[in-house]
Amino acid sequence: MTQPEPAQPRHTADLRQQYATAIRDAVRLRLGPNALRLGEEGRPVMMNASEAETAADAVLAVRDAEMGRLRVRAEIAERRLAALADAVLGNVEHAKRAEAERDDARNTLAKVRALHEQYRFAGDDTTDYCAHCNQISGGWIPWPCPTTQALDRHQTQEAT
Ligand SMILES: [Zn+2]
Repeated sequence: MTQPEPAQPRHTADLRQQYATAIRDAVRLRLGPNALRLGEEGRPVMMNASEAETAADAVLAVRDAEMGRLRVRAEIAERRLAALADAVLGNVEHAKRAEAERDDARNTLAKVRALHEQYRFAGDDTTDYCAHCNQISGGWIPWPCPTTQALDRHQTQEAT
């Protein structure tokens, strides 16, 4: 090669070399090594239509092999992409369910908390009691009641 190599991606340069080799081998087969020597000296190598077709067939064979490799790579890439898309959709669904469950749990906790109200009697007793626990236990349960304490501990844990 006397001409400088044009800047090309490595893959294209490899392919270019494969095409060149295929043409060269076809010329050697049909015209003999003498024709290659003439070509390398920069002298014209005359081909008839049949010889040119042989060279073209050699190039097409390289192209077909390359297309086959690219098709396999494309199929692999498509399968990977589909698997990734499935995984992403699965994660999104999982996150949505987890979010809904969290919201349900928070709503339930808020309802439980609303039941347990701080209450103080009118009069001399300055102790606070839980109105709900009083109703269900029949005794005076001081504020914060065990349920409210548990909710407070849970809230502290959730915040950290
Ligand atoms: Zn209570």
